[in-house]
Amino acid sequence: MSDKKSSIDSKRALRLDGWGFVGESFAVSPALLDWLAARLGDKSEALPSFDPEAFRAPEPAPVPELGCAASTDAFDRLAHARGRGFPDLVHLRSGTVARLPDAVARPGDETELQSLLDAAQKHGLRIVPWGGGTSVTGGVNAPAGAAPVVTVDLGGFSGLESLDEESGLAVFGAGTIGPRIEAALGDRGFTLGHFPQSWELSTLGGWIATRSAGQESLGYGRIESMVAGLDLTAPGGRLEIPALPASAAGPDLRQLVLGSEGRFGVITRATMRVRRRPEHQRVEALLVPDWASGVEASRSLVQAGLPLSMLRLSDAPETEVAMAVGLGKSAWAPLARAWLRLRGIGTNSCLMLLGAGGTPSRIDACFERAWTLLRPHGAVSLGAGPGRHWLADRFRHPYLRDSLLDLGLATETLETAAPWSRLGHLYRAVGRALAGSGSRRELVVPVLCHLSHPYRDGASLYFTFFFRCPRDPDEAVAHWARLKRRATDAIVAAGGTLSHHHGVGSWHAPWLPHEAGESGWRALRRLAQELDPRGVLNSRVLLDRTDRLEE
Ligand SMILES: Cc1cc2nc3c(=O)[nH]c(=O)nc-3n(C[C@H](O)[C@H](O)[C@H](O)COP(=O)(O)OP(=O)(O)OC[C@H]3O[C@@H](n4cnc5c(N)ncnc54)[C@H](O)[C@@H]3O)c2cc1C
Repeated sequence: MSDKKSSIDSKRALRLDGWGFVGESFAVSPALLDWLAARLGDKSEALPSFDPEAFRAPEPAPVPELGCAASTDAFDRLAHARGRGFPDLVHLRSGTVARLPDAVARPGDETELQSLLDAAQKHGLRIVPWGGGTSVTGGVNAPAGAAPVVTVDLGGFSGLESLDEESGLAVFGAGTIGPRIEAALGDRGFTLGHFPQSWELSTLGGWIATRSAGQESLGYGRIESMVAGLDLTAPGGRLEIPALPASAAGPDLRQLVLGSEGRFGVITRATMRVRRRPEHQRVEALLVPDWASGVEASRSLVQAGLPLSMLRLSDAPETEVAMAVGLGKSAWAPLARAWLRLRGIGTNSCLMLLGAGGTPSRIDACFERAWTLLRPHGAVSLGAGPGRHWLADRFRHPYLRDSLLDLGLATETLETAAPWSRLGHLYRAVGRALAGSGSRRELVVPVLCHLSHPYRDGASLYFTFFFRCPRDPDEAVAHWARLKRRATDAIVAAGGTLSHHHGVGSWHAPWLPHEAGESGWRALRRLAQELDPRGVLNSRVLLDRTDRLEE
């Protein structure tokens, strides 16, 4: 393991080959290890972490004058070479990243950014906009090829520029990370309310570029409902979309920038709708007898319009893991289980977490209404303890991936969404695609799932799967790619969206025409040509149909 100071946070060093900050970790509990050993065997071989002494960076291709600060330092280039999906971690750990950017540029304002884009057009450079680098879709990976690659770290566009308290509108630089947004707003009693699990490292521009969804999207909405206006600098021109509460002046240009993943231009600032920070927050846990009753209960809560901020329903395997890892630790767990069995809650039971914020009386009233809807589905309360656990650890869970890889165990996630009427079919289809692998031990893939981000008309499904990680990096990535292809084919065939919140990147791009339709896909391509006529911006994401899962 090694570290590198990042422009994101000058005080804490970022881990180069894994998630988050150096010195932070999330240990694999003995209960989880037992659970995995029962399914995958206990013969995993530890996966070594990155050895900085052995690392030899390829010589960078010469880059012309870029019109802004730029670095060709080998570790800076490595720190900006890959996102944080499974293949990224494998290649970073093993020192087998095929392509590093040739330079990392750090423009300080729009004029410098424009000069950089002019230089890219003139000299045929490839430009990769980089927010926090937390992409899990190959969205920030330096593209292979002869053209020099310049990754643009947007840390120079950071901070609160203004807050209009009367309207609840805050202007932030696009490179501002989650904690800085909340700290700046919190000082004035406001919140954005956008808390993706990657919150500590990801940026406002990255959230907008990928149509991100935070864990409290049920209360605060997805990022697209929070963006009132924004500025985009593109090689072909600038878009300055004014912040208006609503408009009927033609198609909504914001929606073209949302989800554009650095392909149409670089978002430099955005005006965000912010709210008064709630006085209190409570997350309650409960069990329902099985997945089907949990899905029905979730639907009834959301369609009744309860003012909940979060709803998360784990399926039975995810519940088993959560109980073993969290609840199972408490002294009263055996008693609780016996009591639950008496109440008819058995091994298929599913854990639900419900969150609400506001004044204590508003929260009480919300949960009171929730319980009148939950009781007919056989729900049994577990109180506020597990919810407190979850809130305390919610941004630490990603460290578990690295701890598992240390033990030679791989875990990866994927997500989708569909209308309620198709959710059951989608759940079964993806589970089968991932787990249906025959009897060979190395192909066994335990799968967990939870429903979250519910809407009146449907919800997101989020799958976590595990496999024994081959020590050879190419073999590990090839195995992951097979699973990813199978699952993505299943998602598309079952009528789910290609992505509910991770975005398209380069890994999902070959499937985009299934969802956008050929005409829609061509229209998006023409728009990219208008804003970026020479194709210098992140050309491998979104609209490139080449299968790049193994790169
Ligand atoms: C552990 C983990 C947990 C995650 N949890 C969530 C979650 O709960 N919800 C969720 O939505 N996502 C989640 N993600 C995915 C990821 O964090 C999101 O996609 C996030 O929005 C990316 O933000 P970023 O600043 O890191 O962007 P980056 O990874 O740097 O970039 C992502 C894409 O946006 C482009 N881009 C970045 N900034 C700009 C800009 N200013 N202008 C134009 N293009 C830009 C990049 O070129 C790239 O295509 C998670 C990822 C990890 C690793």
